[in-house]
Amino acid sequence: MKFCPKCGGLMTPLRREGRTLLKCIRCNYEQELTASVRREYTASITTDKSLRVVTTSKISEPSKRELRSKEELEQEREEFYEIALELMSSEEIGEEEGGEY
Ligand SMILES: [Zn+2]
Repeated sequence: MKFCPKCGGLMTPLRREGRTLLKCIRCNYEQELTASVRREYTASITTDKSLRVVTTSKISEPSKRELRSKEELEQEREEFYEIALELMSSEEIGEEEGGEY
């Protein structure tokens, strides 16, 4: 897993304009996903079997839970896995993607 250099919060993958960023769920700090960061990130996902538990406990902090609907969390989690899987299957980063959007 990747953690925020500022507050130590969990960094989650984020898609923007065809690029992938990592965004802190606590302070919204954003970090561009470079090749080296991606390697580190995906490696930790494939080896860390407790990813799901970690993610859940981080997001389900009482203060956060009151602010976010369950539906929103579910959607966010789905997106997280979707992007994580994509990252693991793609070889290159920073490549322009075709007109799929
Ligand atoms: Zn942070």
